[in-house]
Amino acid sequence: MSFSHLSHLECSRTGARYDADQVQGVSDVGAPLLVRYDLDGVRASVTPAEIAGRPHDLWRYHEVLPVRDPAHVTTLGEGMTPLLPLPSYGAHIGVPGLLMKDEGLVPTGSFKARGAAVGVSRARELGVEAVAMPTNGNAGAAWSVYAARAGLGSLIVMPVDAPEITRRECVVSGAELYLVDGLINHAGALVKAAVAERPGTQEVSTLKEPYRIEGKKTMGYEIAEQLGWRVPDVILYPAGGGVGLIGIHKAMLEMRELGWIGAKLPRLVAVQADGCKPIVDAFDAGLDESTLVEGTHTLAFGINVPKALGDFLVLQAVRESGGTAVAVTDEEILTELGELATREGAWVCPEGAACFVAARQLRERGWIAEGEEVVVLNTGTGLKYPDTVSVDVPTLARDGAVPAR
Ligand SMILES: *Cc1c(COP(=O)(O)O)cnc(C)c1O
Repeated sequence: MSFSHLSHLECSRTGARYDADQVQGVSDVGAPLLVRYDLDGVRASVTPAEIAGRPHDLWRYHEVLPVRDPAHVTTLGEGMTPLLPLPSYGAHIGVPGLLMKDEGLVPTGSFKARGAAVGVSRARELGVEAVAMPTNGNAGAAWSVYAARAGLGSLIVMPVDAPEITRRECVVSGAELYLVDGLINHAGALVKAAVAERPGTQEVSTLKEPYRIEGKKTMGYEIAEQLGWRVPDVILYPAGGGVGLIGIHKAMLEMRELGWIGAKLPRLVAVQADGCKPIVDAFDAGLDESTLVEGTHTLAFGINVPKALGDFLVLQAVRESGGTAVAVTDEEILTELGELATREGAWVCPEGAACFVAARQLRERGWIAEGEEVVVLNTGTGLKYPDTVSVDVPTLARDGAVPAR
């Protein structure tokens, strides 16, 4: 019985095969590598019913994860986040079957921990000594924390505007951290140059190593398992690099081949901010790839990605699943964030709030029907973005009184 049924890596553009048991970056044509498994072997060795009895973290799906030896699993308990009904807010926007997958509850407060847990575990298994990455904040925080746990070094470069808490998370876990007066693509160029000078350090930028997708795809496995091994009608996802959306779609295709779910796929919605919407523009124009946008800006920092390496995979997943792509404004994001908190007690991150705006708008347009089951990914906790709420309340004198009402 294998812990993992990892088979090989495959170029996402040409289908060429690569050895999974060596450290790999992108394919020869510069495209992301996708991880392939012996799914017949998985089907023969485990059933959904057996999975039900396993510990409540993402490693419950270890047959379809890339780590071969359980001794290399680096975990802080990530995964199996709640799939919460939102009855009040759902009724308010006309989608009573609205559910929120709350990734604010994973270690480091964002779903980046899923990719980091699997990516770091596999890097450690393959003998990597340190990881290096550009980040909009949350990924760097997650990878530094998991690298610390695995005993690996980490080099992180992030824009000066990235959420300040994420700097502290890198520093506290011992990362070598630099800030750059620019965007994530500028940070990326600096990291690339540094890694060339540092043997033993692997560049783990978004989709430049194969295993982060595998961590994030577990959101798809969990959604299906939590619904009793069936899929919802629609899943909305805030797309920056798009790893989670690519991963969820990959999970759906794997589960379908395994016979764990039926033929139906959820319609995937890529949500972006008006100030940075290369994927939405490409979708609207019927293009297979996006164009680099200059001077992008949004308070939803996790989705401020001017050009994603895997843009074509996001567009493919959206189209193949019958989904769509939507952009929303920062003002709408802040308003919706307040609605969620007052109606449901849920302080979501701006990226998650963007998906709620999109759900509301797609319902208004009739793209989402009233009776449909809709899952929104809240990709992080609102606690990491305290500036989304301004507090303007009176201070009382010690001998004063609370005003009568
Ligand atoms: C990184 C991030 C995203 C976007 O994730 P991608 O995989 O890059 O598309 C969304 N929300 C939050 C909170 C993030 O940190």
